[in-house]
Amino acid sequence: MPLTDPVKLQIVQQRVFIKKVCRNCGALNSIKATKCRRCHSTNLRPKKKELPTKKA
Ligand SMILES: [Zn+2]
Repeated sequence: MPLTDPVKLQIVQQRVFIKKVCRNCGALNSIKATKCRRCHSTNLRPKKKELPTKKA
């Protein structure tokens, strides 16, 4: 179900895409996390992927 409401899109982006991804095991972590919650690796990258904006 594609979201078209820009307000909802923003909420989803903030809640889902503002994460860090572990390069070691791929687990999602909080943006504030410094260590992976699964493998305790510090090799985290921010997940910057954004939702496709079809309305642009
Ligand atoms: Zn990990």
